[in-house]
Amino acid sequence: MFPLLKYSESQVTAYYSKVTPEMVRASLAKERHDWFDLLNLLSPAAYPFMDEMRVKARKARIRYYGKTVSVYAPLYIGNTCINSCRYCDFRAAHTGTIRRNLTMDEIKLEAEAIKATGIDNLLIVAGEDPRVNTVAHFCEVGAMLKKMFSNLSLEVAPQSEEGYRAMFEAGYESLTCFQETYDPEQYKYFHPQGPKSNYEWRLWTQLRAGKAGFRTLGCAFLLGLCPWRPEAASLGAHAFYLMKECYESKIQFAFPRFCRVEGGFVPPHEVSEEDVDLMMLAFRIVFPQCCMTVSTREAPKFRDYIVQVAADNMSAGSRVTPGGYAVLEKEHAPDVAQFTLTDQRSPAEVYAAIKANGQEVVYKNWDNRI
Ligand code: SF4
Repeated sequence: MFPLLKYSESQVTAYYSKVTPEMVRASLAKERHDWFDLLNLLSPAAYPFMDEMRVKARKARIRYYGKTVSVYAPLYIGNTCINSCRYCDFRAAHTGTIRRNLTMDEIKLEAEAIKATGIDNLLIVAGEDPRVNTVAHFCEVGAMLKKMFSNLSLEVAPQSEEGYRAMFEAGYESLTCFQETYDPEQYKYFHPQGPKSNYEWRLWTQLRAGKAGFRTLGCAFLLGLCPWRPEAASLGAHAFYLMKECYESKIQFAFPRFCRVEGGFVPPHEVSEEDVDLMMLAFRIVFPQCCMTVSTREAPKFRDYIVQVAADNMSAGSRVTPGGYAVLEKEHAPDVAQFTLTDQRSPAEVYAAIKANGQEVVYKNWDNRI
């Protein structure tokens, strides 16, 4: 569990099982919600209320985000990694992956291909490799890309507060760091070696980045590693904590789910689409002002629905291999991805689906001059 919570996993699980329909109804009727409301709306007793939750979540979403959907694209700049996450094909010992770190020219080529699709919001992703992916390197990449994109986000190995300060100065404003699991024992099992095996260092990443000035702090756990209800309770507690400690930053939620693929990692606690739906509705109701993204691992139909009621941003036309937008095509090389994308639509198809639902696509969500 999130360590500052005073409840154990078994107490939280016992609470979930005791939630009644009246408690769900009472939480739904409130204007301001606390952590217990989140648990009530995530409990098994909440399933029959999902239609009412949709109505309430949609209202909250419209109040804070109107009819807009922000779009972004991830740019994988390197997939060498010294960690050993058991579920990831980029882990150090995995031999079936073609490894590469893009040169500055290749990063520029990839960025130009993304920019040509209209996207102005870029997420830089890299494996953990201190030989290549240093703060200085990220700063060099950021300084180059800041001239092309109005918003740069990071999804890379956790850094020190000082490192984040330098990266913020270089142009990055948002950060995402999945905790993977809030259960320290399971965390140790899934991350047996490498710097990522340090649970605490990863847990306080958003706090360090927030203190360094980052505008958006992304939090998530990996759906499928551990039972999802205690994890979601921890995620909520983590968010309440960050909203207090980093009140100038915005919290962003993601709900990345393992979807079973042939020959791939088999998640020990599979999560259904209905449960992702319930989670996203509950978090939108309890945290109406926070950002929420819907993963490319989800099916197009679900993504198109959930951006109308809960999520406010989504990726479009994602490639999850270094060089996947332009470089590999130029080299006629195969695309070996970090995980399987369920939504394979092009950016234009994603924009068309958003517009068909009466929503507007937002390519640019921030300007430093504001
Ligand atoms: S999840 Fe990230 S840190 Fe872990 S092996 Fe994959 S790339 Fe490396």
